[in-house]
Amino acid sequence: HFEVVPDPAAGAAVKAADRAHVFHSWSAQGLIDPLAVAGAAGSYFWDYDGKRYLDFSSQLVNTNIGHQHPKVVAAIQEQAAKLCTIAPGFAVDVRSEAARLIAERTPGDLDKIFFTNGGAEAVENAVRMARLHTGRSKVLSAYRSYHGATAAAINLTGDPRRWPSDTASAGVVHFWAPFLYRSPFHAETEEQECERALRHLEDTIAYEGPQTIAAIILETVPGTAGIMVPPPGYLAGVREICDKYGIVFVLDEVMAGFGRTGRWFAADHWDVTPDLMTFAKGVNSGYVPLGGVAISAEIAATFDTRPYPGGLTYSGHPLACASAVATINTMAEERIVENAAEIGERVLGPGLRELAERHPSVGEVRGMGAFWALDLVRDRATREPLVPYNASGADNQPMAEFAAACKQRGLWPFVNMNRTHVVPACTVTEAEAKEGLAILDEALTTADAHTV
Ligand code: PLP
Repeated sequence: HFEVVPDPAAGAAVKAADRAHVFHSWSAQGLIDPLAVAGAAGSYFWDYDGKRYLDFSSQLVNTNIGHQHPKVVAAIQEQAAKLCTIAPGFAVDVRSEAARLIAERTPGDLDKIFFTNGGAEAVENAVRMARLHTGRSKVLSAYRSYHGATAAAINLTGDPRRWPSDTASAGVVHFWAPFLYRSPFHAETEEQECERALRHLEDTIAYEGPQTIAAIILETVPGTAGIMVPPPGYLAGVREICDKYGIVFVLDEVMAGFGRTGRWFAADHWDVTPDLMTFAKGVNSGYVPLGGVAISAEIAATFDTRPYPGGLTYSGHPLACASAVATINTMAEERIVENAAEIGERVLGPGLRELAERHPSVGEVRGMGAFWALDLVRDRATREPLVPYNASGADNQPMAEFAAACKQRGLWPFVNMNRTHVVPACTVTEAEAKEGLAILDEALTTADAHTV
């Protein structure tokens, strides 16, 4: 449905201006060579040479509805013509409607929505709400997690990216969440992993002092750190522990929410209701920056007569809210969440497991919906990762080769440490998913070459 007109000179000009003036996230500025993107539609984007890529990254796992969905684009255009901006203190139709549509889908009584511009701000505000609600200060967060790059969020993040940043914020304590394939508890079964993880969490609480702990924050299905589906019973167990000690349970659904796992929220798979739930990304597929916190009735009531000390100029921005309303309505009308579930169950899951049978570099396949990871290993028996933990430069060569092989064949992968995440749009068709699997099949031979 789209035409890709090559214009290499324009691409070169875009790249030159980028290199002259754009300072990129997470990068050594002198070592990067960003692809100049000319356009996108559905599951694809393309460069100025006319080369098309199947987007198996959904960018940063956010374009759940695909690129340039016409209904969402039209809604933004209509809203821009009507009212581009208004301060958060006013009541406006699109903001009210976005909040209603989100609250209708969040579990339990998470019926009040505080809007932010993205995930990290949502996490910042969830933590602030939990601290004010409980009068306690500590927050427990898992290793192998990502919660954002702002002050509190980067400190809650349980991966090495937080170490070189600010000094640790007071009151953040990390614990281990379950992950059977690389079990921190040396467990052999899901049941053992779950039971030991819950015991470890409760021990951590005991040693920190339950009366000092405001919140436990968890990604429902940790995403950036490796798409680790929790064992049955774990989230319910954490809910119970939170209730026992009066701790606020925060589920971070920034990446897992809005269809990614094949349900509106990942928490729906286990029927768990947190006290606060953060969202962003898929809420409007990132067409305009948007995130937020869904707040339980009890926590919301804390601020009935006492002002909430927090706010953002662009909280509930009309263009963002209009895109959220259109996204959510379109996802419902076009059964996009159901599509993610079905593609996961029928095509991606079986297809990836089949790749694992043929490729010795695939140590584990895990995931659900449109949210999958291949854990690549040098040695299946020992589970030694294909590249060392947090590898860079020459050490990272096997993953760099794998990514290059995907790109050469027209697939844009999401690669992190020794993993590739298979995270296409939730709108991905069976044919597109199979096209991607075929490319992965070929590209994995580069990884196989590095196995023992
Ligand atoms: N929380 C989770 C679970 C995420 O995956 C991310 C981003 O990847 C964030 C928070 C931060 O969101 P943002 O980059 O919009 O600030």
